[in-house]
Amino acid sequence: MQLPRPDQMQLDQFLHSLEQAAETEVGYPGALDLDYRALAPFLRYCLNNIGDPFGETSYRLNSHAFEREVVTFYAGLTEAPEDGWWGYVSNGGTEGNLYGLYLARERYPDGIAYFSQDSHYSVAKNLRFLNMRHIMIRSQPHGEIDYEDLRETIRIRRDVPPIVFANIGTTMKEARDDITRIRGIMEDLAIEQYYIHSDAALCGGYAAWLEPRPNWNFADGTDSIAISGHKFLGAPVPCGIVLARREHVERISHAVAYIGSVDTTISGSRNGLASLIFWYAIRALGEDGMKQRLHAALEVAAYAEDRFRTAGIDAWRNPAALSVIIPQPAPEVCTKWQLASSDGISHVMCMPHVTRERIDSLLRDIETARDHAA
Ligand SMILES: *Cc1c(COP(=O)(O)O)cnc(C)c1O
Repeated sequence: MQLPRPDQMQLDQFLHSLEQAAETEVGYPGALDLDYRALAPFLRYCLNNIGDPFGETSYRLNSHAFEREVVTFYAGLTEAPEDGWWGYVSNGGTEGNLYGLYLARERYPDGIAYFSQDSHYSVAKNLRFLNMRHIMIRSQPHGEIDYEDLRETIRIRRDVPPIVFANIGTTMKEARDDITRIRGIMEDLAIEQYYIHSDAALCGGYAAWLEPRPNWNFADGTDSIAISGHKFLGAPVPCGIVLARREHVERISHAVAYIGSVDTTISGSRNGLASLIFWYAIRALGEDGMKQRLHAALEVAAYAEDRFRTAGIDAWRNPAALSVIIPQPAPEVCTKWQLASSDGISHVMCMPHVTRERIDSLLRDIETARDHAA
């Protein structure tokens, strides 16, 4: 395949503009420090991971073997019960969250889903897809769910199994709901039938190494976990991981003759390149490399918070968070630095590509815009 000249020029220009946009990116959680171009030869094939990654399938142009290694690695990081878990590489956090809620609904068809005001916007949509009853719970100012509101709301509906959608890093403030506290509420109320899903789309790529340690994983008592691959792991295509207790997945799986496999996933055809990308990151960085990236990024986040505060900007962040919250800067600053904003605040996401120099440069722009306005 070869492009006509003008089209080639269009592509070249597009690449150039991407390179430029990446230079001033601090607002979204996608890490840009990793280079996956070594996997380019695999673009020659359509790697389609249709079916269950652990099942047999008649189609062989897949990367199921890599997918199994990837989900096994994350089962370890999330302390999944030995021989009691199942998972696959998804299209991203949203699909993983849909999957978790689907398993919950099949377990408790009459259950009510509880999620906080700070949950990701896709949760309301997913609950509509699944036609699930749901109630929104207040958030605390720093973004964590309001446990008192959760307790009171569940208490007056004790006859209905609660399905709690917990945020392990809210989109805006990176607040982490505490699974141990949520289970404590169930115990206090003598509720035995409940389901907890961890939306770890944002923090799942690094939560295992955070201190203080969040209560978020299977050992803490969650039933399913969704993680995004294009955030901390910087995958060049949107992708994710979803893991669940095996008993929940067995309830929904059934064999399909056409693909010669069990239909346990949401999508039919699935992105096999994504599994290679995850695998490549795991093998090239190892747990140590990932930890190092995390610790360096946390240092930049602490630096940013400190620099902003010293400059008289009311900046703050949650404990061990990569997101630094600041009052929304002038529009031209938000545009240049691609800052996501809502309710008058913006967040600076200190993903591993964000350096101290970049923070300094952003700060200069914020101060310049402030001086002009004054
Ligand atoms: C990013 C995010 C999602 C959605 O994940 P995608 O991978 O973009 O589909 C869901 N929840 C939270 C908290 C997120 O930060």
